[in-house]
Amino acid sequence: MSGVVIVGAGQAGFQVAASLRQGGFAGAVTLVGDEPRLPYQRPPLSKTYIKTDAAFDSLLLKPESFFEKHAIALRLGESVAAIDRAARSVTLADGSALTFDHLVLATGAANRVVPVRGHDRRGVHQLRTAEDAERLRAELAAASTVAIVGGGFIGLEVAAALQALEKRVTVIEAADRLMGRTVSRPVSAFFLDEHRRMGTTILLGTAIDSVLGDQRTRGVRLSDGRDIDADLVLIAAGVTPNDQLAEAAGLRTDRGVVVDQHMRTDDRAIFAIGDCAVFPSVHTGTAVRLESVQNAVDQAKLVAARILAQDDDAATLEPYRAVPWFWSDQGPFKLQIVGLTAGADHVEMAKLDEAGKLVAYCFAGERLLGIETVNRPGEHMLGRRILADGLLVARDAVARHDFDLKTHFNALKSRG
Ligand code: FAD
Repeated sequence: MSGVVIVGAGQAGFQVAASLRQGGFAGAVTLVGDEPRLPYQRPPLSKTYIKTDAAFDSLLLKPESFFEKHAIALRLGESVAAIDRAARSVTLADGSALTFDHLVLATGAANRVVPVRGHDRRGVHQLRTAEDAERLRAELAAASTVAIVGGGFIGLEVAAALQALEKRVTVIEAADRLMGRTVSRPVSAFFLDEHRRMGTTILLGTAIDSVLGDQRTRGVRLSDGRDIDADLVLIAAGVTPNDQLAEAAGLRTDRGVVVDQHMRTDDRAIFAIGDCAVFPSVHTGTAVRLESVQNAVDQAKLVAARILAQDDDAATLEPYRAVPWFWSDQGPFKLQIVGLTAGADHVEMAKLDEAGKLVAYCFAGERLLGIETVNRPGEHMLGRRILADGLLVARDAVARHDFDLKTHFNALKSRG
């Protein structure tokens, strides 16, 4: 049975299957996922799931009946072990094979293992799957001190969630600021202050040397020789893309599966999307790999549309140009980012007179790369429209003390 085979039943894999059916695709659609569960959302794991007794069903992208109704064949708890490009088939770990006309790699990413002594002790956790979150949640009740290795989005979301559970939390970050790969310095500084205010101890410029304890963890030793007590350790030090399957099949990989602007690998029958895919961004002019729900969903929709259109002519295809956006909930603060702001050389902060909110306009030279906001959803949504429409927001306009994005946006729109 040919048709579309999707490897990975996460956010992106699910969306391809759903969009194919929504678009009227009549062929076979098979979703193979190595987690034994129906496709679910990961964002709540680090925000709410670990601190409540919410049922797994609350995370589901769709109930089981959806897959039956739309004739999406689920092969859950099964992993694809190899791709045979010549035969247009994949082999599952149990030795069975599935043939395809189109193959979509949506294999996501795996947590980076920090190879320090003791990283495999009991009480050392990571957080990628619902199973990880449930394991963490089960051990949290008996823990009073928690060390989190990594001051990125996930580490900080968990730190804020654990403050609500009144744990004593230490975040250990090797870089000199929080979320350093993805947000501007003023936003890092804002979150440093707020997490400290919430009660979390944050150690910047500090690496972990080893996990202490016999069988169970009792703390971590830092690279400067200090010891920190911890009944529980969470390693949240980034991810590595799951590109091994593609590499073994002779497809190009470079810290992810390399695709063109249409999400196609070197093999026209094989696409790659979501956290595992490296693609040329029309926004930065460079190859990027993004880890966000928006990116997974939009790339999935694009691939479904390609398959439905049966159009493989690069000249007539619209490249992937969705404006990247992202959110992170850390205690009472909703951080929202639109655009890719990592390359900014100038950040203009809006003059707000309300505490606990901010709007950071990130520029490279005169070009607005993106906007980072905290608890200001209005500016975030306008930012999405501005970047999608390619409207020019001048740096000197933003710098004026009475600058208002809404007024500016309306003026830009009325000028056409
Ligand atoms: P995934 O959802 O990871 O799915 C990939 C699936 O493929 C996995 O189930 C994997 O096990 C499976 N797989 C891999 N190899 C094989 C194989 N060979 N055979 C079969 N199956 C395979 N993004 C946001 O935008 N905002 C947030 O607030 C946010 N919070 C997050 C919080 C957490 C704790 C985590 C972990 C992620 C968060 N993200 C957030 C990121 C977002 O969830 C990911 O970007 C998104 O899930 C990517 O979708 P994906 O389908 O590419 O990968």
